[in-house]
Amino acid sequence: MVQAISILGCTGSIGRQTAAVAEYTGIRVAALTANRQIDRLEEQARKFRPEFVAVYDENAAKELKIALADTPVRIGSGMEGLLEAATLQSIDCVVTAVSGAVGLKPTLAAIEAKKRIALANKETLVCAGEIVMKRAAETGAEIVPVDSEHSAIFQCLMGRQPGELRRILLTCSGGPFRGKARASLEDITPAQAIKHPRWNMGAKISVDSATLMNKGLEFIEAMRLFGVSPDDIQVVIHPQSVIHSMVELVDGTVIAQLGVPDMGLPIQLALTYPQRLPSMFDRLDFTMLQDLSFEAPDLENFPCLRLAVDCARRGGTAGCVMSAANEEAVHLFLREKLGFNRIYDMAAEAVSALASDDASDLETIFAADAAARQFVHETAGA
Ligand code: MG
Repeated sequence: MVQAISILGCTGSIGRQTAAVAEYTGIRVAALTANRQIDRLEEQARKFRPEFVAVYDENAAKELKIALADTPVRIGSGMEGLLEAATLQSIDCVVTAVSGAVGLKPTLAAIEAKKRIALANKETLVCAGEIVMKRAAETGAEIVPVDSEHSAIFQCLMGRQPGELRRILLTCSGGPFRGKARASLEDITPAQAIKHPRWNMGAKISVDSATLMNKGLEFIEAMRLFGVSPDDIQVVIHPQSVIHSMVELVDGTVIAQLGVPDMGLPIQLALTYPQRLPSMFDRLDFTMLQDLSFEAPDLENFPCLRLAVDCARRGGTAGCVMSAANEEAVHLFLREKLGFNRIYDMAAEAVSALASDDASDLETIFAADAAARQFVHETAGA
Protein backbone atom coordinates (compact mmCIF):
# COMPACT_ATOMS: atom_id res chain seq x y z
CA MET A 1 0.00 0.00 0.00
CA VAL A 2 1.06 3.61 -0.46
CA GLN A 3 2.84 5.67 2.22
CA ALA A 4 2.37 9.33 1.25
CA ILE A 5 -0.04 10.98 -1.16
CA SER A 6 -0.80 14.20 -2.99
CA ILE A 7 -4.48 15.01 -3.28
CA LEU A 8 -5.19 17.06 -6.41
CA GLY A 9 -8.57 18.70 -5.89
CA CYS A 10 -8.65 18.25 -2.11
CA THR A 11 -11.65 20.50 -1.40
CA GLY A 12 -14.08 18.63 -3.67
CA SER A 13 -16.20 15.66 -2.70
CA ILE A 14 -13.63 12.95 -3.60
CA GLY A 15 -10.75 15.04 -2.23
CA ARG A 16 -12.36 15.42 1.20
CA GLN A 17 -13.26 11.74 1.35
CA THR A 18 -9.68 10.86 0.37
CA ALA A 19 -8.36 12.98 3.25
CA ALA A 20 -10.69 11.15 5.65
CA VAL A 21 -9.54 7.74 4.35
CA ALA A 22 -5.88 8.80 4.65
CA GLU A 23 -6.45 9.86 8.24
CA TYR A 24 -8.21 6.58 9.07
CA THR A 25 -5.59 4.35 7.43
CA GLY A 26 -2.55 6.34 8.61
CA ILE A 27 -1.40 7.37 5.12
CA ARG A 28 0.50 10.68 5.12
CA VAL A 29 -0.99 13.59 3.15
CA ALA A 30 2.14 15.30 1.78
CA ALA A 31 0.55 17.73 -0.68
CA LEU A 32 -2.83 19.29 -1.36
CA THR A 33 -4.15 21.31 -4.28
CA ALA A 34 -7.39 23.17 -4.91
CA ASN A 35 -8.79 25.58 -7.42
CA ARG A 36 -9.56 28.51 -5.13
CA GLN A 37 -11.51 27.40 -2.06
CA ILE A 38 -8.91 28.64 0.39
CA ASP A 39 -10.99 28.51 3.60
CA ARG A 40 -11.35 24.76 3.29
CA LEU A 41 -7.78 24.44 2.05
CA GLU A 42 -6.41 26.32 5.05
CA GLU A 43 -8.40 24.09 7.38
CA GLN A 44 -7.03 20.95 5.70
CA ALA A 45 -3.47 22.32 5.65
CA ARG A 46 -3.59 23.01 9.40
CA LYS A 47 -4.99 19.56 10.06
CA PHE A 48 -2.71 17.44 7.83
CA ARG A 49 0.46 19.60 7.88
CA PRO A 50 1.43 18.79 4.27
CA GLU A 51 4.81 19.99 3.03
CA PHE A 52 3.31 21.61 -0.07
CA VAL A 53 0.00 23.20 -1.03
CA ALA A 54 -0.87 24.54 -4.49
CA VAL A 55 -3.78 26.81 -5.43
CA TYR A 56 -4.65 26.96 -9.12
CA ASP A 57 -5.96 30.53 -8.90
CA GLU A 58 -2.99 32.93 -8.50
CA ASN A 59 -4.82 35.49 -6.35
CA ALA A 60 -6.23 32.86 -4.05
CA ALA A 61 -2.69 31.47 -3.69
CA LYS A 62 -1.49 34.86 -2.43
CA GLU A 63 -4.31 34.95 0.12
CA LEU A 64 -3.49 31.45 1.32
CA LYS A 65 0.17 32.37 1.70
CA ILE A 66 -0.81 35.11 4.14
CA ALA A 67 -3.28 32.85 5.95
CA LEU A 68 -0.65 30.12 6.46
CA ALA A 69 2.29 32.46 7.18
CA ASP A 70 2.66 31.02 10.70
CA THR A 71 3.18 27.48 9.33
CA PRO A 72 6.13 25.90 7.45
CA VAL A 73 3.84 24.86 4.54
CA ARG A 74 5.22 25.82 1.12
CA ILE A 75 2.65 27.35 -1.26
CA GLY A 76 2.61 27.09 -5.06
CA SER A 77 0.17 28.29 -7.71
CA GLY A 78 -1.15 27.74 -11.22
CA MET A 79 -0.46 24.68 -13.38
CA GLU A 80 3.15 24.79 -12.19
CA GLY A 81 1.92 24.25 -8.62
CA LEU A 82 -0.27 21.32 -9.67
CA LEU A 83 2.65 19.76 -11.52
CA GLU A 84 4.91 20.11 -8.48
CA ALA A 85 2.27 18.52 -6.24
CA ALA A 86 1.95 15.64 -8.72
CA THR A 87 5.67 14.89 -8.80
CA LEU A 88 6.85 15.60 -5.25
CA GLN A 89 9.83 13.43 -4.27
CA SER A 90 8.32 12.28 -0.98
CA ILE A 91 5.03 10.87 -2.36
CA ASP A 92 4.33 7.52 -3.97
CA CYS A 93 0.74 8.18 -5.08
CA VAL A 94 -1.29 11.00 -6.62
CA VAL A 95 -5.05 11.08 -6.17
CA THR A 96 -6.43 12.94 -9.20
CA ALA A 97 -9.69 14.26 -7.78
CA VAL A 98 -9.87 17.44 -9.86
CA SER A 99 -12.91 17.94 -12.07
CA GLY A 100 -12.43 18.35 -15.81
CA ALA A 101 -9.59 18.45 -18.33
CA VAL A 102 -7.27 20.38 -15.99
CA GLY A 103 -6.31 16.95 -14.59
CA LEU A 104 -4.53 15.78 -17.75
CA LYS A 105 -1.12 17.48 -17.44
CA PRO A 106 -0.57 16.66 -13.74
CA THR A 107 -1.62 13.04 -14.35
CA LEU A 108 0.91 12.70 -17.16
CA ALA A 109 3.62 14.33 -15.03
CA ALA A 110 2.90 11.90 -12.18
CA ILE A 111 3.13 8.97 -14.61
CA GLU A 112 6.54 10.20 -15.82
CA ALA A 113 7.61 10.36 -12.14
CA LYS A 114 6.40 6.72 -11.72
CA LYS A 115 3.84 7.57 -9.03
CA ARG A 116 0.75 5.43 -8.53
CA ILE A 117 -2.28 7.23 -9.96
CA ALA A 118 -5.45 6.82 -7.91
CA LEU A 119 -7.55 7.97 -10.83
CA ALA A 120 -10.72 9.89 -10.03
CA ASN A 121 -10.55 12.28 -12.99
CA LYS A 122 -12.28 10.50 -15.86
CA GLU A 123 -11.86 13.37 -18.33
CA THR A 124 -8.14 12.55 -18.48
CA LEU A 125 -8.77 9.12 -19.98
CA VAL A 126 -11.61 10.36 -22.17
CA CYS A 127 -9.41 13.07 -23.74
CA ALA A 128 -6.07 11.35 -23.95
CA GLY A 129 -6.61 7.76 -22.84
CA GLU A 130 -4.39 6.15 -25.43
CA ILE A 131 -1.44 8.43 -24.67
CA VAL A 132 -1.91 8.16 -20.88
CA MET A 133 -2.21 4.34 -20.83
CA LYS A 134 0.77 3.94 -23.20
CA ARG A 135 3.03 6.12 -21.04
CA ALA A 136 1.90 4.33 -17.88
CA ALA A 137 2.77 0.96 -19.46
CA GLU A 138 6.17 2.31 -20.53
CA THR A 139 7.12 3.87 -17.17
CA GLY A 140 5.49 1.17 -15.03
CA ALA A 141 3.31 3.70 -13.17
CA GLU A 142 0.24 1.93 -11.77
CA ILE A 143 -3.19 3.35 -12.52
CA VAL A 144 -5.77 2.24 -9.95
CA PRO A 145 -9.31 3.46 -10.62
CA VAL A 146 -11.30 5.34 -7.96
CA ASP A 147 -14.51 5.68 -9.98
CA SER A 148 -16.82 3.15 -8.26
CA GLU A 149 -17.73 1.27 -11.46
CA HIS A 150 -14.13 0.99 -12.63
CA SER A 151 -12.96 -0.03 -9.18
CA ALA A 152 -15.62 -2.76 -9.29
CA ILE A 153 -14.44 -3.97 -12.71
CA PHE A 154 -10.81 -3.80 -11.52
CA GLN A 155 -11.74 -5.96 -8.52
CA CYS A 156 -13.74 -8.44 -10.63
CA LEU A 157 -10.71 -8.83 -12.92
CA MET A 158 -8.21 -9.44 -10.09
CA GLY A 159 -6.44 -12.76 -10.60
CA ARG A 160 -7.99 -13.38 -14.05
CA GLN A 161 -5.96 -14.56 -17.03
CA PRO A 162 -5.91 -12.59 -20.28
CA GLY A 163 -8.60 -14.00 -22.55
CA GLU A 164 -11.03 -14.88 -19.73
CA LEU A 165 -13.06 -11.67 -20.09
CA ARG A 166 -15.98 -11.70 -22.52
CA ARG A 167 -17.51 -8.33 -21.68
CA ILE A 168 -17.89 -5.63 -19.08
CA LEU A 169 -21.35 -4.89 -17.63
CA LEU A 170 -21.17 -1.23 -16.63
CA THR A 171 -23.94 -0.40 -14.16
CA CYS A 172 -25.70 2.96 -13.99
CA SER A 173 -28.23 4.26 -11.47
CA GLY A 174 -30.17 6.02 -14.23
CA GLY A 175 -29.83 9.36 -12.45
CA PRO A 176 -32.56 11.52 -10.91
CA PHE A 177 -34.65 11.72 -14.10
CA ARG A 178 -34.86 8.02 -14.97
CA GLY A 179 -38.20 7.24 -16.65
CA LYS A 180 -38.79 10.84 -17.72
CA ALA A 181 -39.23 12.03 -21.32
CA ARG A 182 -36.61 14.43 -22.70
CA ALA A 183 -39.31 17.03 -23.54
CA SER A 184 -40.33 17.16 -19.86
CA LEU A 185 -36.77 18.04 -18.80
CA GLU A 186 -36.64 21.34 -20.71
CA ASP A 187 -37.03 23.56 -17.61
CA ILE A 188 -35.00 21.54 -15.11
CA THR A 189 -33.06 23.82 -12.75
CA PRO A 190 -29.48 23.27 -11.50
CA ALA A 191 -30.83 22.51 -8.00
CA GLN A 192 -33.06 19.74 -9.39
CA ALA A 193 -30.28 18.30 -11.56
CA ILE A 194 -27.68 18.00 -8.81
CA LYS A 195 -29.98 16.17 -6.41
CA HIS A 196 -28.86 12.58 -7.06
CA PRO A 197 -30.91 9.71 -5.56
CA ARG A 198 -27.95 7.50 -4.55
CA TRP A 199 -24.63 9.30 -4.62
CA ASN A 200 -23.55 12.53 -2.97
CA MET A 201 -21.19 14.19 -5.46
CA GLY A 202 -19.87 17.49 -6.82
CA ALA A 203 -22.02 19.69 -9.09
CA LYS A 204 -20.38 18.85 -12.43
CA ILE A 205 -20.55 15.07 -12.04
CA SER A 206 -24.08 15.31 -10.62
CA VAL A 207 -25.30 17.09 -13.76
CA ASP A 208 -23.42 14.52 -15.87
CA SER A 209 -25.25 11.79 -13.95
CA ALA A 210 -28.59 13.46 -14.67
CA THR A 211 -27.91 13.62 -18.44
CA LEU A 212 -26.21 10.16 -18.42
CA MET A 213 -23.14 11.84 -19.92
CA ASN A 214 -21.33 10.54 -16.83
CA LYS A 215 -22.03 6.98 -17.97
CA GLY A 216 -20.86 7.92 -21.45
CA LEU A 217 -17.58 9.26 -20.07
CA GLU A 218 -17.26 6.11 -17.95
CA PHE A 219 -17.86 3.97 -21.04
CA ILE A 220 -14.81 5.53 -22.71
CA GLU A 221 -12.87 5.43 -19.42
CA ALA A 222 -13.53 1.66 -19.17
CA MET A 223 -12.39 1.08 -22.76
CA ARG A 224 -9.08 2.79 -22.04
CA LEU A 225 -8.44 1.35 -18.58
CA PHE A 226 -9.19 -2.25 -19.49
CA GLY A 227 -8.15 -2.20 -23.15
CA VAL A 228 -11.50 -3.35 -24.56
CA SER A 229 -13.52 -2.30 -27.60
CA PRO A 230 -16.95 -0.58 -27.50
CA ASP A 231 -18.59 -3.91 -28.40
CA ASP A 232 -17.21 -5.42 -25.19
CA ILE A 233 -19.10 -3.05 -22.86
CA GLN A 234 -22.82 -3.13 -22.07
CA VAL A 235 -24.45 -0.43 -19.95
CA VAL A 236 -27.06 -1.80 -17.53
CA ILE A 237 -29.39 0.44 -15.52
CA HIS A 238 -29.45 -0.68 -11.88
CA PRO A 239 -31.23 2.00 -9.82
CA GLN A 240 -30.27 0.66 -6.36
CA SER A 241 -26.50 1.10 -6.99
CA VAL A 242 -25.68 -1.94 -4.85
CA ILE A 243 -23.83 -3.72 -7.66
CA HIS A 244 -21.10 -1.32 -8.78
CA SER A 245 -20.40 -3.18 -12.05
CA MET A 246 -19.80 -6.71 -13.30
CA VAL A 247 -17.70 -8.72 -15.71
CA GLU A 248 -18.92 -11.61 -17.83
CA LEU A 249 -16.29 -14.29 -18.44
CA VAL A 250 -15.99 -16.43 -21.57
CA ASP A 251 -17.83 -19.38 -19.98
CA GLY A 252 -20.85 -17.21 -19.13
CA THR A 253 -19.98 -16.74 -15.44
CA VAL A 254 -20.74 -13.24 -14.19
CA ILE A 255 -18.72 -11.73 -11.34
CA ALA A 256 -20.12 -8.68 -9.58
CA GLN A 257 -18.74 -6.35 -6.92
CA LEU A 258 -21.27 -5.15 -4.35
CA GLY A 259 -21.15 -2.69 -1.50
CA VAL A 260 -22.83 0.32 0.01
CA PRO A 261 -22.81 3.32 -2.33
CA ASP A 262 -19.97 5.19 -0.62
CA MET A 263 -16.99 6.52 -2.58
CA GLY A 264 -14.80 5.97 0.47
CA LEU A 265 -14.59 2.25 -0.37
CA PRO A 266 -13.03 2.54 -3.85
CA ILE A 267 -10.84 5.41 -2.58
CA GLN A 268 -9.48 3.26 0.23
CA LEU A 269 -8.79 0.31 -2.06
CA ALA A 270 -6.94 2.55 -4.55
CA LEU A 271 -4.62 3.60 -1.71
CA THR A 272 -4.16 0.24 0.05
CA TYR A 273 -4.10 -2.01 -3.06
CA PRO A 274 -2.96 -4.79 -3.25
CA GLN A 275 -3.81 -4.97 0.45
CA ARG A 276 -7.28 -4.67 1.93
CA LEU A 277 -7.74 -3.06 5.31
CA PRO A 278 -10.77 -2.80 7.60
CA SER A 279 -12.77 0.35 6.81
CA MET A 280 -15.00 2.81 8.62
CA PHE A 281 -17.85 2.42 6.14
CA ASP A 282 -21.31 0.88 6.48
CA ARG A 283 -21.85 -2.77 5.59
CA LEU A 284 -24.45 -4.22 3.24
CA ASP A 285 -27.29 -5.90 5.06
CA PHE A 286 -28.84 -8.39 2.64
CA THR A 287 -31.89 -8.85 4.84
CA MET A 288 -32.66 -5.15 4.32
CA LEU A 289 -32.22 -5.14 0.52
CA GLN A 290 -35.64 -5.04 -1.10
CA ASP A 291 -34.96 -5.96 -4.70
CA LEU A 292 -32.20 -5.42 -7.19
CA SER A 293 -33.58 -4.45 -10.57
CA PHE A 294 -32.05 -4.03 -14.01
CA GLU A 295 -33.13 -2.46 -17.28
CA ALA A 296 -31.73 -1.22 -20.59
CA PRO A 297 -30.69 2.45 -20.79
CA ASP A 298 -33.13 4.84 -22.49
CA LEU A 299 -30.99 6.27 -25.30
CA GLU A 300 -33.88 8.20 -26.88
CA ASN A 301 -34.55 10.38 -23.87
CA PHE A 302 -30.94 10.43 -22.64
CA PRO A 303 -29.01 10.89 -25.89
CA CYS A 304 -25.74 11.88 -24.18
CA LEU A 305 -24.98 8.21 -23.57
CA ARG A 306 -25.61 7.37 -27.23
CA LEU A 307 -23.38 10.28 -28.30
CA ALA A 308 -20.55 9.07 -26.06
CA VAL A 309 -20.74 5.52 -27.42
CA ASP A 310 -20.68 6.95 -30.97
CA CYS A 311 -17.60 9.01 -30.04
CA ALA A 312 -15.98 5.92 -28.52
CA ARG A 313 -16.44 4.07 -31.82
CA ARG A 314 -15.28 7.04 -33.86
CA GLY A 315 -12.01 7.57 -31.93
CA GLY A 316 -9.66 10.45 -32.78
CA THR A 317 -10.56 13.66 -30.97
CA ALA A 318 -14.32 12.89 -30.82
CA GLY A 319 -14.31 11.96 -27.12
CA CYS A 320 -12.16 14.96 -26.22
CA VAL A 321 -14.37 17.40 -28.14
CA MET A 322 -17.52 15.89 -26.59
CA SER A 323 -16.11 16.00 -23.07
CA ALA A 324 -14.79 19.58 -23.33
CA ALA A 325 -18.02 20.87 -24.93
CA ASN A 326 -20.03 19.07 -22.25
CA GLU A 327 -17.88 20.53 -19.47
CA GLU A 328 -18.43 24.08 -20.74
CA ALA A 329 -22.14 23.49 -21.36
CA VAL A 330 -22.58 22.09 -17.82
CA HIS A 331 -20.86 25.15 -16.34
CA LEU A 332 -23.19 27.41 -18.35
CA PHE A 333 -26.18 25.36 -17.18
CA LEU A 334 -25.07 25.67 -13.54
CA ARG A 335 -24.89 29.45 -14.00
CA GLU A 336 -28.41 29.32 -15.54
CA LYS A 337 -27.16 30.50 -18.93
CA LEU A 338 -28.14 27.35 -20.81
CA GLY A 339 -31.13 24.98 -20.62
CA PHE A 340 -30.72 21.40 -19.40
CA ASN A 341 -31.51 19.80 -22.77
CA ARG A 342 -29.11 22.16 -24.55
CA ILE A 343 -26.18 20.41 -22.84
CA TYR A 344 -26.59 17.46 -25.20
CA ASP A 345 -27.17 19.75 -28.20
CA MET A 346 -23.92 21.61 -27.51
CA ALA A 347 -21.88 18.43 -27.15
CA ALA A 348 -23.40 16.83 -30.26
CA GLU A 349 -23.01 19.96 -32.39
CA ALA A 350 -19.40 20.41 -31.27
CA VAL A 351 -18.58 16.81 -32.21
CA SER A 352 -20.20 17.23 -35.67
CA ALA A 353 -18.34 20.48 -36.28
CA LEU A 354 -14.93 19.75 -34.80
CA ALA A 355 -14.06 16.07 -34.26
CA SER A 356 -11.18 14.72 -36.33
CA ASP A 357 -9.57 11.32 -36.74
CA ASP A 358 -6.13 12.35 -35.57
CA ALA A 359 -5.42 12.42 -31.84
CA SER A 360 -1.84 11.21 -31.95
CA ASP A 361 -0.22 13.94 -29.87
CA LEU A 362 -1.07 16.14 -26.91
CA GLU A 363 -0.94 19.39 -28.91
CA THR A 364 -3.74 18.12 -31.18
CA ILE A 365 -5.76 17.11 -28.13
CA PHE A 366 -5.32 20.43 -26.34
CA ALA A 367 -6.24 22.30 -29.54
CA ALA A 368 -9.41 20.19 -29.93
CA ASP A 369 -10.30 20.79 -26.29
CA ALA A 370 -9.90 24.58 -26.65
CA ALA A 371 -11.84 24.69 -29.93
CA ALA A 372 -14.74 22.77 -28.36
CA ARG A 373 -14.94 25.19 -25.42
CA GLN A 374 -14.88 28.19 -27.74
CA PHE A 375 -17.55 26.58 -29.95
CA VAL A 376 -19.92 26.24 -26.98
CA HIS A 377 -19.44 29.83 -25.85
CA GLU A 378 -19.99 31.18 -29.36
CA THR A 379 -23.00 28.95 -30.05
CA ALA A 380 -24.60 29.57 -26.68
CA GLY A 381 -23.89 33.31 -26.95
CA ALA A 382 -22.45 33.29 -23.43
MG1 MG B 1 -18.91 6.38 -11.43
